[in-house]
Formats: sequence, structure tokens, C-alpha cells
Amino acid sequence: MTRAAVLEAPRRFEVAERPKPLPGPGEAVVRVAATAVCHTDLAIYTGRHPGVRYPVVLGHEAAGIVEAVGTDSRIGVGTRVVINPIIACGACDCCTRGDENLCRRAGLLGRELDGSLAEHVVLPERYLHPVPAEIGLEAATLIETLATVHHAQSRVSISPGDAVVVLGQGATGLLHTQLAKLAGASPVVAISRSAWKRDLARRMRADATVDPAGRDIVAEVLALTVGRGADVVIDTTGAPGLLRPAMEMLRPGGTFLLYAISHEPVPDFTTFPMYYKELTLVGSRALVPADFEPAIRLVAAGAVDLDGFITDSYPLHRAAAAFDDYERDPDRVLRTLIVP
Ligand SMILES: [Zn+2]
Ligand SMILES: [Zn+2]
Repeated sequence: MTRAAVLEAPRRFEVAERPKPLPGPGEAVVRVAATAVCHTDLAIYTGRHPGVRYPVVLGHEAAGIVEAVGTDSRIGVGTRVVINPIIACGACDCCTRGDENLCRRAGLLGRELDGSLAEHVVLPERYLHPVPAEIGLEAATLIETLATVHHAQSRVSISPGDAVVVLGQGATGLLHTQLAKLAGASPVVAISRSAWKRDLARRMRADATVDPAGRDIVAEVLALTVGRGADVVIDTTGAPGLLRPAMEMLRPGGTFLLYAISHEPVPDFTTFPMYYKELTLVGSRALVPADFEPAIRLVAAGAVDLDGFITDSYPLHRAAAAFDDYERDPDRVLRTLIVP
């Protein structure tokens, strides 16, 4: 048998005993070492995520160890792995183009399929990426998030010397700050309301941090870029009210990367700056399998600093408390870990 934390309905977890999954051809059973919980999980937990059917086993940012494999599997039992949770059909026009993240029949592990808040999860082995020994399995849960950040930055070109502004310094904002520095951006300006996140951003090599409270962030960015404006602005907050200031702080010809999104209408917005400043607005969704290898390499080499990202850890049977605490004070959390 194996245990899973089943979300029966919004805000109602039950830990259930289930038969241990068996691997089919080309599949592997992973003994989950840890799962990191993010805003997507919180939205499913609270019932705010559209189109989710309950009951569901959450969890899509996970690492573990291969425990059993089916016929035709090439991955070895005992391999330490991180999971790619973007389940794609492999056959539609988007998949054929290599855009598995845009698959017309895409699912997310832990949303359309039962996820990793469990002792075991079974998956086709193509969704498993081996993790070298120098990366701990708890830190490895952040590789999926780093892969989404890598994917997003691969959709904009950040060149050495570019001024980059990162709006929000949660887990994804801090990773964007680090990848922008690794691309040679200067200055990288990290904006966050939380003093402790600004401290982390400076430790992660942000050149300047700005507390937006009571400040004109457009004026701050213009001052930090000697009046030129930013080459690239990356939004990791999804706050609709930031679209206009983001466009105002961009230089003519600049690029706005909408990494975080919202269903809310955008207030006070016109398309005129798109013409006048010839701005580029870029969307980014999840990741493609090719984003895993560079993400794993960056962590293994120590180029990306993951210290401090895991702010809480709970055993599987306390999943309800983990989510309750997360919902009550989300600003305190970068990633909450759930450990079977
Ligand atoms: Zn996530
Ligand atoms: Zn597809």
C-alpha cells in the first residue's frame, strides 16, 4: 500500500491508503522524496483555480527515487530524479513543433492527473530527469520552477549590460533575478514589498532593490538607469495594476515579459505605448523538457543559489496544516515542502 494526501474538496484533505501503483510499459514508479508547494497548488486548494475536478492529489514540483520500472524502461531502479509535470500528448500540432507546454491536450500532474503529495507516483519515464548526487532531493524540488524561469527568459533576449527589472521577489522572482545576472544583465533591479525578500535578492546578486511602498517605481527605475529605462521588465506578481508602470519604465524598444498572469482586467491600459515605444509583450507558459537539463546543470554547478528557498517543511499527514498556514500568510513563504 501507499499513502496519498487527497484533496476531497476545497480546503479538505484526507490521507488515504491506496494500492501501490504498478509501472506499465515505459513507465516508472517514483518514491517521492519531497514536493514543493506553489501558488498554483494554493489556488487549487482554495477552489480558485478554474476547471479543477475534486478529489485530486496535488503536487507537481517533486523529486524522488525510481523504485520500480515497467518493461521497455531504460531508467534504472535507484535513479534520483526530478519530475517534469507537464503531461503532453506528443501528437498534436503544438507537440510536433516542440511546444509541449502548449499541447492542445496538456495536463498538469497534480491537477488533471494525480500528483506527488503521496509516497509514490507513477509516470512515463520520459517525464523523469536524473539529478546528480551533488543536488539534494529537497533542493531538487525547485528545479521545475527554475525550468519555468529558464523557459521564460529563453523567450526574451537578455544581453550583457541590459538593465532588467524583476517585479516581485518570491521564489520565481528571485530565480529570475539570478538568471538575469548570469546572463550579464546590469543593473538588475529587484522590486519587492518585503524587506526579507529584498535582502535575499541582494544576496542573489541584485544590483539594486526597491521597496514600492509609497514610492514611484517608474521614477526609481529611471534614476537607476540614468534616465534610459529598462531593456527588459519581468513581472512575477501577476498584479494587473503593474502593467502600466512596467510599460512606462521600459526604454523605447524594450520588452515586457509577463511571467505571472491574472484573470483580472487590466485597469488604465491603452495600446498606444506599444506603437509609440515599439514595445514587445511576451507571454510564457510553463516549460518544455529541454529546459530541465540547463536548470539541473546550473544548480549542480552552484551557479544558482537555492539556499533559503524552502521556508517550511511538513510531513505528508500534515498537508492540511501546511496549506492552512500557507493560505493564512503567503508572503512569509517562498516554498513549503511536503515530505512523505
Ligand atoms: Zn508550481
Ligand atoms: Zn499535444
